[in-house]
Amino acid sequence: MKLAFIGLGNMGGPMALNLLKAGYALSVFDLMPASVKILTDAGASAAASAALAVRDADVVVSMLPASAHVRGLYLGDGGVLAQVRPHTLLIDCSTIAPGAAKEVAAAAQAKGLPMIDAPVSGGTAGAAAGTLTFIVGGAADALERARPLLQKMGKNIFHAGASGAGQIAKICNNMLLAIQMIGTAEAITLGVANGMDAKVLSDIMAQSSGRNWTLELYNPWPGVMENVPAARGYAGGFGSQLMLKDLGLAQEAAAAAQVATPLGAIARQLYQLHAQNGSAALDFSSITTLLGGASPAKS
Ligand code: NAD
Repeated sequence: MKLAFIGLGNMGGPMALNLLKAGYALSVFDLMPASVKILTDAGASAAASAALAVRDADVVVSMLPASAHVRGLYLGDGGVLAQVRPHTLLIDCSTIAPGAAKEVAAAAQAKGLPMIDAPVSGGTAGAAAGTLTFIVGGAADALERARPLLQKMGKNIFHAGASGAGQIAKICNNMLLAIQMIGTAEAITLGVANGMDAKVLSDIMAQSSGRNWTLELYNPWPGVMENVPAARGYAGGFGSQLMLKDLGLAQEAAAAAQVATPLGAIARQLYQLHAQNGSAALDFSSITTLLGGASPAKS
């Protein structure tokens, strides 16, 4: 089986590596040559364009930043939908607007191409370890075709519902994640300002009712944990700009459904400020620095 993988960034790179390790033949494309090189060094073949990468593929996997990139990749004259062979399975793992996911999947269906939206949770560590959670929207038979591949990159696979449902579930999850990250950063900043050691405080809260994923596995305070972005000046990980995008998608979905999500709205505002302050490219746990507590320099 031939696979094409488009988008080899913080997430797509390690996901593609896991498919290679599982023995699949991979044709890859990314706009950044350095990201492509990591994959070709591991045995993938580099294509000169996305169109060339997908031409012979049985399955196409994409992992791009946002809706505009996914629309640009799949739609239009030179787009993937116009290039692939009949019956090629399309799997988009990017986090994008549910409406954009539905639009691209409908255009694929019109050409007889099965497509699922399969956004992921689990971060870059989960991508590297092959333990991601896939949240899938689309037809059940398309998911069954995709399942053996998804199992090489992740360990939990949920069928959220019809096309676009994977994105809805992902957006709800990330709104909750942002709120938890800000809350965790706020609590540690408060404790440290009152003389607590950040690690001691984190250990206490991780065994108390404030326990949550950001505290236990992705601590935002430098020096508390190894192998997280806070331990390396907030480099890599999940960019604040991407979290800001997801919080915007959550607000759009809330407005469309006429639901109040006040904490999500505040979280979006805080990430907007953070991005404006020059931290857009830093991991989303760097929101701690906006609160006046930790700074990369102190790590
Ligand atoms: P990233 O910015 O590190 O990677 C995106 C890659 O896409 C880059 O290498 C870029 O060069 C490439 N790209 C952009 N346009 C392209 C095009 N037209 N053709 C080919 N390549 C193109 O982003 P990421 O952190 O890997 O995130 C990717 C997606 O996964 C986003 O939607 C994000 O919201 C989601 N996500 C990220 C994380 C995380 O922890 N980083 C976790 C879950 C979901």
